[in-house]
Amino acid sequence: MKIISINTGSSSLKFSLFNMDDESVIASGLFERIGIEGSNYTIKFNGEKVNQQVELNSHVDAVKVLLDKLIDLGIISSLNEIDGIGHRLVHGKDKYRESVLINDEVVEDLDKFKCFAPLHNPANILGINAFKEALPNVPMVGVFDTAFHQTMDSTTYLYAVPYSWYQNHGVRKYGFHGTSHRYIAETVKEMLGKDEFRLISCHIGNGGSITAIKDGKCVDTSMGFTPLAGIMMGTRSGDIDPSIIPYVMEQEGKNASEVIDDLNKRSGLFGMSEYSSDMRDILEKCGQQDEKAIVARDKYVRRVVDYIAQYYVLLGGADVIVFTAGVGENSIPVRRQICEELACFGVKIDLDKNNVRGEVVKISTDDSSIDVYVIPTDEELMIARDTLHLINR
Ligand code: AMP
Repeated sequence: MKIISINTGSSSLKFSLFNMDDESVIASGLFERIGIEGSNYTIKFNGEKVNQQVELNSHVDAVKVLLDKLIDLGIISSLNEIDGIGHRLVHGKDKYRESVLINDEVVEDLDKFKCFAPLHNPANILGINAFKEALPNVPMVGVFDTAFHQTMDSTTYLYAVPYSWYQNHGVRKYGFHGTSHRYIAETVKEMLGKDEFRLISCHIGNGGSITAIKDGKCVDTSMGFTPLAGIMMGTRSGDIDPSIIPYVMEQEGKNASEVIDDLNKRSGLFGMSEYSSDMRDILEKCGQQDEKAIVARDKYVRRVVDYIAQYYVLLGGADVIVFTAGVGENSIPVRRQICEELACFGVKIDLDKNNVRGEVVKISTDDSSIDVYVIPTDEELMIARDTLHLINR
């Protein structure tokens, strides 16, 4: 069985084609600058990489080129080999608690919920429609970023604001990165060989969220109504006092969306360091004793530790902490600093084992009170698994 996982952005389309017999990636790639000058694609397969400029006026064009290339490059011999298409969908509000076969109702809901994810949901619809046109008889499955977090209870997902905001306008915590956190939860479950465990999953990359997971289910997560909430990120502020917003509007003569834009795109590591949103650059600057970079790194670490500590209490202790995504999988010094700040919980890091990037490794010592792992996330595989599961049902 071959399944293709799709992640559509407003001007991009990422794909991974899986052979689900052994869950291997047959090919993967990215179509960029769709509808913009300079559009191009990259396809990787068999250790080769093809990169080409091509005019892509729409997502329909991108899907057409993708399918043509899969055949031209000999990756598949016929489109009939594609058994299912899995789409990463961002916002399913509180209606979608799990992945679904895509039908007209799902597409209508994506449109209905677009005010909650104005950049992502419309892009997801473009991706769905483009594949519907190209492969009308192949079943499609939608895997929502918000779905995994639907097990949070109302004490957790309600904000302490007028109840009518929730009732009338859907103001509540939704959470994101759910597919990644679910992948981590399932991997840990398989590793432990049991259903009962308390897990704190730290997805820390350019975006970042921490999730408290009990027996495989989300109990709380750090992102909120939007992905702006929670820990400090590459360019996002994470939680701040909301009164800052009207104050800065007045001081800088900006409107609310301009200030929110500053909080999404010019804050976090980038805003604090006035240098870069990329942790590698920040660490390099720290090595040069750059004061702003040092404070940015330390604040980043502090916010992760804050959430781990909070979730430790919420879960009544923790069996496993997992680091994943760009920083979590690759940044040896950041993981070390976080674990050292958790020493009061009895967390002990093994510095040799921590010297690892992008592999599944236990980085805590045998006498650490909590097992700490690095686990590379794989949202594409999770989407392909759900797709296979639903089309076989
Ligand atoms: P993501 O959004 O998951 O792709 O993660 C991007 C983040 O991961 C950026 O801040 C990168 O600097 C960071 N990252 C990737 N590789 C490394 C590395 N070797 N050391 C430190 N940070 C890294």
